Amino acid sequence: VKLKGGRRWSAFDAELRDENERRRTLEAELRRAIPAGEIEPWFQPVVEASDGRIVGVEVLARWRHPERGLLAPAAFVPIAEELGLIGAIDEAVFEAACARAAPWVAEGLIELVSCNVSPRDLLDPAFSRKLIGRLAKTELPATALTVEITETFLLQDLALARRHIERLAAKGVNIALDDFGTGYSNLRALMHLPIQTVKLDRSLIDDVGRDARVSKLVGSMLHAARALGVSIVAEGVEHEAQAVFLRAAGCDRMQGYWFARPMPGDDMEARLREGAQA
Ligand code: C2E
Ligand code: CA
Ligand code: CA
Ligand code: CA
Repeated sequence: VKLKGGRRWSAFDAELRDENERRRTLEAELRRAIPAGEIEPWFQPVVEASDGRIVGVEVLARWRHPERGLLAPAAFVPIAEELGLIGAIDEAVFEAACARAAPWVAEGLIELVSCNVSPRDLLDPAFSRKLIGRLAKTELPATALTVEITETFLLQDLALARRHIERLAAKGVNIALDDFGTGYSNLRALMHLPIQTVKLDRSLIDDVGRDARVSKLVGSMLHAARALGVSIVAEGVEHEAQAVFLRAAGCDRMQGYWFARPMPGDDMEARLREGAQA
């Protein structure tokens, strides 16, 4: 028995060592990847619910790892947040995305570019000032930018959240509340902060048009948002039935695999030009 237990422990130690090793490697690789430009912006179309026209794009980070191929945010955003590297990533993605998408806006191919920021970035008291400075160096008009924030952040420090949101809103930047419906669904924040958009989380959209109770709930959320003059983007729309329901329920814009998956800048540009010709 003793021997068996001992073996189990040493296997556990080895696993821990492997895990630590893996993390250290990832950390070193990530520190190198950011200045090397390996973290790049991908784009997912946001469509108008009424006619399916592409009106904007959400910027989503991808890591083009030299050996391991293309990595999704789940593989590196959480560790980047822990290591305090997420700010550098968001900055790199933001700059590359603005450079890429500014001409699309200038040519009238889209109206909106939506960028994600980590709740961690937002705890920096200078966050909004830095972002406005960075934006001024790009060709993208402030009114074409949406910054997607999460409720977690509003709950952490409401006074700071208010300062950032008001500073950005004063410049004409749109604020969207991401992952709405997953946490405390902060309707108070919507009433008291200049937030123009909410993004209904995929977990709610999954069962819409299929489960009567979820459909009712989403319907009433859409109703409440409309009453507050807030526009709604439904994310994670994968099936036509969901799109049909959401359109009928008064959702403004939609995003999801049913319309298009996230894609590299070149593909996004080709698609926009195709649409403009048709
Ligand atoms: P999010 O902001 O909620 O982004 C939506 C996620 O849903 C994206 O995953 C997108 O690819 C995925 N998605 C879109 N449509 C569908 C669909 O129809 N079905 C399904 N199953 N998924 C869909 P992705 O690109 O893996 O990003 C995951 C999360 O990582 C994002 O969630 C966001 O929180 C974070 N993230 C992405 N890019 C950045 C970034 O540049 N900075 C920061 N701080 N976070 C980022
Ligand atoms: Ca988002
Ligand atoms: Ca989301
Ligand atoms: Ca999210």
